Amino acid sequence: MDRIVDRILVSACLIGWPVRFDGAAKTLHHPLLARWAEEGRLVPLCPETMAGLATPRAPAEIEPGTDAAAVLAGTARVLDADGGDHTAAFREGARIATATARIRACRFALLTEGSPSCGSTLIADGTFSGRRILGEGVAARALRDAGLRVFAPDALDELAALLDREA
Ligand code: SF4
Repeated sequence: MDRIVDRILVSACLIGWPVRFDGAAKTLHHPLLARWAEEGRLVPLCPETMAGLATPRAPAEIEPGTDAAAVLAGTARVLDADGGDHTAAFREGARIATATARIRACRFALLTEGSPSCGSTLIADGTFSGRRILGEGVAARALRDAGLRVFAPDALDELAALLDREA
């Protein structure tokens, strides 16, 4: 009988897809990631491009003094440096991420740090100054709300230990 492996929703830019706002990838070269790809565990997804945002695109940040939960609740916005409002696309990206996780039975997510969609422990501070603060991106928050365990790239070993324990 086929063995069903735990699947991991992964930020597409982490596995080399050039989908970031600047048209680049943020490829993570790590043997664990290569192993999980070989095992068929990885479900790549870019919430922003899946929601219809172009590449390249203006960088956007969650407005200062708010957070991803407020964006999902409709009481905060995601803006670019000129004040362009991209909230609807970020909420749609989060919706697509959670729907994909559900359809593909992902219990885990491995997401690029710092992004207003995918950041799982750090995001930009909303002032376009390059400063990062503790916080989550909109898709990361939605995935946690949907029950996924969400990890940043620096927590690969923690995710591996969890997968081994549950194998
Ligand atoms: Fe990468 Fe996530 Fe940004 Fe897409 S939304 S480019 S997957 S960090």
